[in-house]
Amino acid sequence: SNHAFAAGPSTKERSFIAIKPDGVHRGMISNIISRFEQKGYKLVGIKVIVPGMDLAKAHYAEHEGKPFFNKLTSFLTSGPVVAMVWEGKEVIKYGRTMIGATNPLASAPGTIRGDFCVDMGRNMIHGSDGPESAQREIALWFQPSEIAEYESATQSWVYE
Ligand code: GDP
Ligand code: MG
Repeated sequence: SNHAFAAGPSTKERSFIAIKPDGVHRGMISNIISRFEQKGYKLVGIKVIVPGMDLAKAHYAEHEGKPFFNKLTSFLTSGPVVAMVWEGKEVIKYGRTMIGATNPLASAPGTIRGDFCVDMGRNMIHGSDGPESAQREIALWFQPSEIAEYESATQSWVYE
């Protein structure tokens, strides 16, 4: 194809991005999806799910034992989560840049948390923090059959 010299393996990087219940209740689904879409990233998995406690605890396993763990997992199970897999060059790291710092009051304007959030426990969105967590979280939330393999029509306009 005419993309033979364009699309290297790094354009296939995937991150797990989730809009937490506060983001869904506040009507931020389309705004958040738009940001990733407009950047040039490709949506390859999406579903709305009210996660059970097992899933919430597994997702946030690294925080087990911390003072905010129970509040965090209770909040995640309290309502709808939009679970997504986004694909593209450095989507894990740049996705975190788009999301902003964990504390929204330390997040730059222009980031999702900087633009819309105040409290840490209402920071609206999750993004994988590295390749290992991305792989783990995608496998936790999605079956392989729920991930779509396709080439975007804009591929050669986003990537040189
Ligand atoms: P993230 O990767 O930026 O989402 O942050 P972490 O992985 O460190 O923490 C997971 C989530 O737990 C954060 O997004 C916050 O919602 C919440 N959280 C983290 N640290 C704190 C804290 O000190 N207090 C409270 N209330 N929530 C926290
Ligand atoms: Mg994290």
